[in-house]
Amino acid sequence: MNEKRKRSDTRSAEAFAEAKKYIPGGVNSPVRAFKSVGLTPLFVVKGAGSRVYDVDGNEFIDYIGSWGPLILGHAHPEVIEAVKRTAELGTSFGAPTELETEMAKLVVERIPSIEVVRMVNSGTEATMSALRLARGYTGRSKILKFEGCYHGHADSLLIKAGSGVATLSLPDSPGVPESVAVNTITVPYNDLASVQLAFEKFGEEIAAVIVEPVAGNMGVVPPQPGFLEGLRQTTSSYGSLLIFDEVMTGFRVGLHSAQGLYGITPDLTCLGKIIGGGLPVGAYGGKREIMEHIAPAGPIYQAGTLSGNPLAMAAGYTTLKLLGEPGVYEELERKSAKLEQGFRKNAAELGIPSTINRVGSMICPFFTDTKVINYETAKRSDLERFNRYFASLLDEGVSIAPSQFEGMFVSAAHTDADIDATIEAHYQALKRL
Ligand code: PMP
Repeated sequence: MNEKRKRSDTRSAEAFAEAKKYIPGGVNSPVRAFKSVGLTPLFVVKGAGSRVYDVDGNEFIDYIGSWGPLILGHAHPEVIEAVKRTAELGTSFGAPTELETEMAKLVVERIPSIEVVRMVNSGTEATMSALRLARGYTGRSKILKFEGCYHGHADSLLIKAGSGVATLSLPDSPGVPESVAVNTITVPYNDLASVQLAFEKFGEEIAAVIVEPVAGNMGVVPPQPGFLEGLRQTTSSYGSLLIFDEVMTGFRVGLHSAQGLYGITPDLTCLGKIIGGGLPVGAYGGKREIMEHIAPAGPIYQAGTLSGNPLAMAAGYTTLKLLGEPGVYEELERKSAKLEQGFRKNAAELGIPSTINRVGSMICPFFTDTKVINYETAKRSDLERFNRYFASLLDEGVSIAPSQFEGMFVSAAHTDADIDATIEAHYQALKRL
């Protein structure tokens, strides 16, 4: 890939223009529009393994993986087969199926803190429902979240949020009533002193702390040693719940997710992405004693026409089963470490200021020398430089999320040759900055 390949985008541009006639901004989720990087988005026609293909006939090594779910790569044959087989029997019943129990059992076996789990249809629904449960259970109204963490687009969580909200510089979305916003306290990630202060002031009113145990929506930001432990202690001593939002980290950073990796037991856990294997799924679970406050076991209401949908359960269950095979996470770690080392070497050789954060197969190079430990430091990355880097990578045939505030996801489908080609593409992109 030494010769600069230029990505053609004529057909994508036409498709985007047509889409804008009928869909707000031409997309069904904001960051897909490539607005912040000022380019035409890829209109995708298919994915296979580590690759995606667009309407212009371009092929890319893909590190978006549908924004996290596709840890086995695109169109994994066993996942597709499970979906087909299940679809033949009907796509939705609105009645319980044994597959839902199988799925729940697998999640309970794998996630240390989950005794019972409820399926929903997205990560947003999972966090929104977990918060309602936390509020209903504790009888308190306030929640504490961290700047730059993204927990979906529910009103109370769209305050100083990461991901697309950060990418588009919309820290406090219009449409969120002041009466809701006042109940959300935000403090910097990895800052236990600020958490402590907030609890000293509002402790008796705080229903829950919600946190990404590895932040993945301000780039990738690992928890500092003691941070998650401190959250566990503080919430316990004030009778607040600790909610781990593992929508991104769940089954991504290990078979037992971030809570297994760091050995912390939250009260509630939110899941999404990987557990749906590429179909729309979210879930929240935790201690039976808390979860059984949800209807119909208890009074707190939460429901869903398509929740536990058979196709989604089939894709998710198959994905989770395959992830349980020996060596999957070890291989992900090996390939991701190789990618990280390659990135480091490139940046050093070309004298480009760089900080690379990685936890397992979540990896994020920032264009700054500063250590990135929270949203403030993530924002020190040279965003203009990121945009040029992003465009060059596309020209080199590598697709990453069009934002500095997102990580790259390595999948089981990435081969060593893909990793080598990506390191070379990264080198060429940095060279052109
Ligand atoms: N929580 C986290 C940590 C996420 O990364 C996301 C989505 N990127 C969500 C919640 C929301 O999930 P969804 O987009 O499925 O609603």
